[in-house]
Amino acid sequence: MSYDKFEQTGLAGPHEMSTCLPSEEQRKKGPYAVIECFEEIPCNPCVMSCTFDAILPFEDVNSLPLVDFDKCTGCAVCAGICPGLAIFIVDESKPGDFGTLRLPYEYWPLPEKGQTVMALSREGGDVEPVEVVAISNVKGARTPLVTLRLPKDKLQDIRGFRFLSEEEQAALKDDTEAEKTADIESLESPIVCRCEGVTLAEIRDLIAAGCHTVEEIKHLSRAGMGPCQGRTCRQIIMGELMRAGIGKTEDMPPGSFRPPGGTVTLGQLAEGGDSDA
Ligand code: SF4
Ligand code: SF4
Repeated sequence: MSYDKFEQTGLAGPHEMSTCLPSEEQRKKGPYAVIECFEEIPCNPCVMSCTFDAILPFEDVNSLPLVDFDKCTGCAVCAGICPGLAIFIVDESKPGDFGTLRLPYEYWPLPEKGQTVMALSREGGDVEPVEVVAISNVKGARTPLVTLRLPKDKLQDIRGFRFLSEEEQAALKDDTEAEKTADIESLESPIVCRCEGVTLAEIRDLIAAGCHTVEEIKHLSRAGMGPCQGRTCRQIIMGELMRAGIGKTEDMPPGSFRPPGGTVTLGQLAEGGDSDA
């Protein structure tokens, strides 16, 4: 579907969105209103409701609303007031990969806080399951606002949600259980290289895949590349190679590592001594 023909599709595209978004700098400061109202209709509750004068004064009742993002606080009053459900409150100011989208929702029942729903694109297509983090009613407004937690790169793409079917909820629960089991299994495999967090299972997988030297395993897993340079993991890896029938540990090259090869006290360093040691 082309986004370039707003007149035909009624969907906001890059051109329309370029007229209603703040600058990168302004986005970092806090929540802001995205007013996706692109048709000159006789309507003005948004501009009347904003006590911060953040929506520029209308020349007449058909004017398009434009936000002064230096004044907008993201209070969401306008979003709850707008009869066209055209206003969304986006917050991407917090560190991390996630932000929030507050959107007007006029159906019943409302979702519950903590519930997982399916996020929808502007076209109404499924995007991904997301969490409802708040439901609120702005004072004096009739339309409830539902807040979704979204990846920041989807904050301008998602504009709705739907409830999950029973089958989807069951599948989601199964996926979550499977992820938890996988996490637990990886935790249950002992850590061999504590510096780089490499597990015994990873070492065994590499040996099974054809790695037959400490050096090969080191390059593929990073085991032995941390601050201790393999002082704890080298012997274990050699033992695993022997266990797999790949020679004896005393005959195996230990792989390369940066000095010192063993523990050195400050006293020994101060005294100097044999550099080979
Ligand atoms: S979010 Fe609040 S401050 Fe921003 S335009 Fe709407 S009413 Fe005004
Ligand atoms: S209240 Fe909503 S529909 Fe009316 S002009 Fe403002 S943004 Fe557009």
